[in-house]
Amino acid sequence: MTASIERFDQLDLQAPILEALAEIGYETPSPIQAACIPHLLAGHDILGEAQTGTGKTAAFALPALDRVDIGKRSPQVLVLAPTRELAIQVAEAFQRYASKMPGFHVLPIYGGQSMVVQLRQLQRGAHVVVGTPGRVMDHIERKSLNLDGLTTLVLDEADEMLRMGFIDDVEWILEHIPAERQTALFSATMPDAIRRVAHRYLREPKEVKIKAATATVSTIRQRFLQIAGAHKLDALTRILEVEDDFDAAIVFVRTKTATVELAEKLEARGYAAACLNGDMTQQLRERVIEQLKNKTLDIVVATDVAARGIDVPRVSHVINYDIPYDTEAYVHRIGRTGRAGRAGNAILFVAPRENHLLRQIERATRQPIELLKLPSREAVADKRVAAFQQQVSEVLESEDLSFFLDVIAGMEEKHDVSIHEIAAALAFLAQKDRPLQMPDTGRPDIAQLASGKPEPRAPREPRENRGQILERRRDFAEGKLARYRIDVGREHMASPKDIVGAIANEAGIESRFIGQINLFEDYSTVELPADLPNDVIQILRRARVRQQPLNIRLASPEEASRERGRPGPGGRGAPPKKPFRKEGFNRDAGNFNRDGGGFKPRKPKP
Ligand code: ADP
Ligand code: MG
Repeated sequence: MTASIERFDQLDLQAPILEALAEIGYETPSPIQAACIPHLLAGHDILGEAQTGTGKTAAFALPALDRVDIGKRSPQVLVLAPTRELAIQVAEAFQRYASKMPGFHVLPIYGGQSMVVQLRQLQRGAHVVVGTPGRVMDHIERKSLNLDGLTTLVLDEADEMLRMGFIDDVEWILEHIPAERQTALFSATMPDAIRRVAHRYLREPKEVKIKAATATVSTIRQRFLQIAGAHKLDALTRILEVEDDFDAAIVFVRTKTATVELAEKLEARGYAAACLNGDMTQQLRERVIEQLKNKTLDIVVATDVAARGIDVPRVSHVINYDIPYDTEAYVHRIGRTGRAGRAGNAILFVAPRENHLLRQIERATRQPIELLKLPSREAVADKRVAAFQQQVSEVLESEDLSFFLDVIAGMEEKHDVSIHEIAAALAFLAQKDRPLQMPDTGRPDIAQLASGKPEPRAPREPRENRGQILERRRDFAEGKLARYRIDVGREHMASPKDIVGAIANEAGIESRFIGQINLFEDYSTVELPADLPNDVIQILRRARVRQQPLNIRLASPEEASRERGRPGPGGRGAPPKKPFRKEGFNRDAGNFNRDGGGFKPRKPKP
């Protein structure tokens, strides 16, 4: 009976409800709605099971509204929901669906809200009450919630209420409301405990179960990767290389410019990639989608707007290169994969400061997002080698190699080299365009940087206590210390000691005013007071370390952000080096600048 319902007006709902739905813009009832609404309108109890995001709210709210008598002010519908947020959400949904029903009132009640306010609102009356179990119990006991006129009870997110330990409260409520009523129980899963409650309190319920395959989200494997912006491109290409079921991807970024830039970078690395953004004509956009379908392209880098509604079944991966601003965008994005019942993958890049967004998405979709483990360089190399060996085996099996065997035999004889050596040389030639080994950049492997755990730190020198470090950080943040660049680095054989010595002696800066020193290949950075007088800077410009003029100047933001010898954003790779902390540094940090007079150098030595 449900398969034939394609429009809401095929359901026997009152005109004001249909009007409201038209205004909201729902076109077709979702499967759970098509299956449940007729039963509920006919007065049956319902046991409904469907994934999150499948439209369960409207499945019970629309028929409930249909039965509400606006003339009666006492609650006719009670919805129990597990959390305050969900109670509010459901109440808002009722309000929207009832927007063409003048005089309609829905009231959310939940713990934490002022009792006085709630009592007043309850006295004023509401047709529908949506509440958390604890607070509803409270009101029933106080007799502030009169449920004598109740006709419909809905248990929404029943498994969640079970998980949160509300099941006893729920049963208590079920026993304290009129037995003559319609009851609907909705849940994303159907654990035994919920089934038992249903058996006990529902009368011959119609069971409706919507298979997970029709709910977009559930066929999609969701993972996240903790990764700083500077490493995203490397992480993306590594993912593209190692994901076994990779076929095609849509990569989401935040801006139109970023779509162009990233698509170009991917192309430069040999991927069939193109951008898709709102600046492109409709015709161009359609061509990109067509090319993705016919495998001319494998990767489309898109903005939210441009990718809305794309339906290309071969998209195996959605990469959230930039985290979406809200959960709704996330759901829309990942819905571009896992189409037509296929499995899909959604990978979310989370920069260190975006963790709260990750948690928000997990909470709202009520789906855990697993940590993606990025394979190490070695693992990638192993994989390439295995694929290469596989290719060679296939050629051995399927090709006629007699001509080549002669060539090699001739070479073996003429040059007196072994078959092994010849084979190795050929392997070298064959992999030149796509090397089997991962180049050692001297930088830490992004697989480690993206581990999702904080990076292991170098052991802390004992003399700096936490308070001092915080103090120094604060000073740095307040601009009391600044990072300067000097043109002397490792290649000049300079040591931190040399640098401190030169600065202290030449400019007369006490060593306690000299902060962290980071040595890089051809330069270094030094933390010094931000308010260095000009004449001191002049002296330091000419000062030398290892015959090298320091040529001191304020470090650029990139240089300043390079820490501990790691490359800064866009920085060239310097080998990871342990930071240097000068002996006794900042022992007096507490006194630094306390007089507010800024930095005062001793008289420089002549
Ligand atoms: P569930 O309770 O199953 O998790 P919701 O009822 O919260 O799902 O609905 C999820 C989203 O789908 C909401 O944004 C809702 O407005 C929207 N929605 C519900 N029914 C329809 C429909 N028939 N057409 C379009 N969108 C719908
Ligand atoms: Mg819901």
